[in-house]
Amino acid sequence: MKSKLVERDLAVVWHPCTQMKDHETLPLIPIQRGEGVWIEDVDGNLYIDAISSWWVNLFGHANPEINSAIKAQLDKLEHVLLAGFSHEPVITLSERLVQITPEGLSRCFYADNGSSAIEVAMKMSFHYWRNRGHHEKKRFISIENSYHGETLGALSVGNVPLYRETYAPLLLDTIVAPSPDCFYREENVSWEAHSQERFAAMEALLSRHAEEVCAVVIEPLVQCAGYMRMYHPVYLSLLRMACDRYGVHLIADEIAVGFGRTGTMFACEQANISPDFMCLSKGLTGGYLPLSVTLTRDEIYHAFYDDYENLTAFLHSHSYTGNPLGCTAALATLDIFVKQPVLENNVMLAKCMHDLTEDLQEHPHVAEVRQCGMILAIEMIKDRKKREPYPWQERRGLKVYRYALSKGVLLRPIGNVIYLMPPYIITPDQIKTVINVAREGIELATRD
Ligand SMILES: *Cc1c(COP(=O)(O)O)cnc(C)c1O
Repeated sequence: MKSKLVERDLAVVWHPCTQMKDHETLPLIPIQRGEGVWIEDVDGNLYIDAISSWWVNLFGHANPEINSAIKAQLDKLEHVLLAGFSHEPVITLSERLVQITPEGLSRCFYADNGSSAIEVAMKMSFHYWRNRGHHEKKRFISIENSYHGETLGALSVGNVPLYRETYAPLLLDTIVAPSPDCFYREENVSWEAHSQERFAAMEALLSRHAEEVCAVVIEPLVQCAGYMRMYHPVYLSLLRMACDRYGVHLIADEIAVGFGRTGTMFACEQANISPDFMCLSKGLTGGYLPLSVTLTRDEIYHAFYDDYENLTAFLHSHSYTGNPLGCTAALATLDIFVKQPVLENNVMLAKCMHDLTEDLQEHPHVAEVRQCGMILAIEMIKDRKKREPYPWQERRGLKVYRYALSKGVLLRPIGNVIYLMPPYIITPDQIKTVINVAREGIELATRD
């Protein structure tokens, strides 16, 4: 059964982020069912989805509450355009997002994927300054090793060379600040001291370029696609103050870290800041449907609000903007946060991940085990003392991927970084299984 499907797939499907030639030797896995943390392939093999299907799933596959909410909505309204029309799911979702996001975010603009939410924030920021007469503001400051998606605008403010370099000739000219990432801190320097020290370079860039800059774009606390690198919230506090001082917007990309992933509902809360734009997607619908939202402030909204003839309106739309099924999935997801002590339970699960990986800190081929809430990353390294990485061509992470699959666990390392980003319904026993498999995979991949 599997081989037939694989053959048909490889004849017509082009998979994302994949060298398709790999599939000459790397098995493609057709999935027929999901339930809870499990996904089941067409031959009946089960895998624990330890990466939440690319960080989107929060409460498991085929979650009964989200399923029934979508089914009920499906019989009422599957979709309608959002220009000139509206519907209850988008209204209620907007009210609730305004309530739960940081102070001052009061308007919701929808798109259907994370990259588009970033495009919206960039265009809105630029357009805000233009409407206010600041035509000179047209650049963005981004952070080294950041990731904001794959469309050209989002890619322009991203900085992971693998995704960016090929397309560099097509991209906007972005100003890049050094990352506050704590992986490279000196021994005996705290995360806080390191991230704080790294802010000096951002401050210098702001002071030099503020006049031509619309906004700073940043992933709060964790650079997920950038090898799960992490930093201290102090950097965000300093950045918020500096953006205010220099008259530059702050765009917080919480597409991956929003909805409880870092321990708080939104990562910005840990720095006690409120951005000018907040982009959300991924966990927004509990991992069910493509939906994203860019939240912003009244002040920004009102810079667009004028007589039609003045042509100040925001010009952006997607066919599926604010899709009712997506909004309904999002509402059902938020309901779970209300009905169950999700964040409290995650504290227990995060501690469990921490305790079970503590000994790996000493492993000769582990550079670091780092954690931020429900994200735990283990970075493999060739020479721990010299901090010499494995050459990327050796694809050691891929060995862990293959091994884990053979043991019924879906891990999808980024380079040499093995990480867990499980759905919140995972149990301590399942975490133990995942970590044992990861540990064995690391042994295998670092043996020679
Ligand atoms: C995944 C991701 C995006 C892009 O979202 P897509 O829905 O894949 O376009 C943007 N920013 C961050 C931080 C992400 O993790």
